Amino acid sequence: MSIKHLDKIVSLCKRKGFVFPNSEIYGGLKASYDYGPLGVDLKKAISEKWWKAMTSNSNIVGLDSSIMVHPDVWEASGHVDNFNDPMTDNKDNKKRYRIDDLLSQQKSKVIDALCEALSIENKNDSTTIDKISEILLQESDKYSDALESAGVIDPFSGNIGKWTQATQFNLMFQTNTGPSEKTGKNIYLRPETAQGIYINYLLVQNSMRLKVPFGIAQIGKAFRNEIIARNFIFRTREFEQMEMQYFVHPSEDESSMELWKEKRISFYSNELGINKDKLKFHQHSEDALAHYAKDAFDIEYYFPFGWGEVEGIHNRTNFDLKEHEKLSGKNMMYFDAIKNEKYHPFIIETSTGLNRLFLMVLCESYYEDNENNRTVLKLPFDLAPNKIVVCPLLKKDGLPEKAKEIFDSISSTHKCVYDQQGSIGKRYYRQDEAGTPFGITIDHETLQDNSITIRERDSMEQHRIPIDNILKFISENK
Ligand code: ATP
Repeated sequence: MSIKHLDKIVSLCKRKGFVFPNSEIYGGLKASYDYGPLGVDLKKAISEKWWKAMTSNSNIVGLDSSIMVHPDVWEASGHVDNFNDPMTDNKDNKKRYRIDDLLSQQKSKVIDALCEALSIENKNDSTTIDKISEILLQESDKYSDALESAGVIDPFSGNIGKWTQATQFNLMFQTNTGPSEKTGKNIYLRPETAQGIYINYLLVQNSMRLKVPFGIAQIGKAFRNEIIARNFIFRTREFEQMEMQYFVHPSEDESSMELWKEKRISFYSNELGINKDKLKFHQHSEDALAHYAKDAFDIEYYFPFGWGEVEGIHNRTNFDLKEHEKLSGKNMMYFDAIKNEKYHPFIIETSTGLNRLFLMVLCESYYEDNENNRTVLKLPFDLAPNKIVVCPLLKKDGLPEKAKEIFDSISSTHKCVYDQQGSIGKRYYRQDEAGTPFGITIDHETLQDNSITIRERDSMEQHRIPIDNILKFISENK
């Protein structure tokens, strides 16, 4: 799959009601999308899988905390000071770039030149880019013209940019509470759902009588003022996170990290049907670790535009709990009554973006069946927004009535769609593109012997079966 497939997926999403560009009638709002009727169902199905995978563990419970919290939460967590991306502007055309992103699009001779100027070894990987970004930021005066001298090209203009020196750009969106901007307090839209879990963790633990190790799972919106938002819904400024924070004894952080790495990567192949060859771990280098992390792994998927992170698994130590304790003055320690031991648990975080998983599932399912001149979304049955399309062969002779009767009898167990417009082949192809796994046709024979034709989306095979066997057939063949 190549980048041109991404364009085709974007267009399919709009055509079939999965994802629409936001505010289209006003010319659109960049990197902002709305989920249409099929998109909502697919998103819901993915999040339900995740929720079940988490909360079916007896020691993992759910939470739904607020998007807006006391501003000190973000002081304590370090987001006010540290949640920054290094950026640079091209003075010629005012385009702004994240430095790591800009460098990842340069030819190797440009990176070589930068490594030489900054006296670092070029390891030809992302750690080198992280190192360059870090030095350019820390010694921004000294290396103010390093990007230009190395010949860093502006991907927009295709020319060497006149780059400003590296600066920090805070990714949090600010707003204010209260009736007036002057008297109101500055608050932030949360850039991650995790902090809502940390500040509530003792309330959750006490109310549910949980013992370490235990986890708290949450799904909710997060907001980041990304410098560059692109690749459709891969990186947007408003997105949904699915995070689980696992509280462990400090001596068990490493084993717990291993456990969650294993569980999470299996989730993608077992629950979302992702090919294992298209998944890999990427460990963060020490230079690239977030301010709170001791160790971090990304799970990456091979998108049409290359490898991209879908989930981060982080050992966040007890940094956040200790910082909240310092700033709030409230005890954030866990008390183990059996061992009579008080401590700040370490936290292993599994953090994924629902919208990225949605895109991953679409990319994985998208298939061009050139032999049959059709496009198919090979969505796993559980994820498909509609499971069955019910079609009367003709719009007359009592066939629609019989089809509606069948629709009513199966739609309480499986989400169905009814279609009587156009040729039967066209109707099937419409549903193939929407990922509907089965099609049922009601014809004159049905009225005689109560049999129907059932067609499978991927193989296009058709079978004649009694109406009474529809659900059995589906459960055996889904
Ligand atoms: P990236 O390196 O892609 O910016 P990150 O390392 O900042 O991501 P985390 O803070 O670890 O991401 O967030 C956890 C997950 O949240 C990511 O793996 C991703 O699935 C999702 N996520 C983060 N930022 C965005 C975004 N702007 N749009 C969509 N999903 C996002």
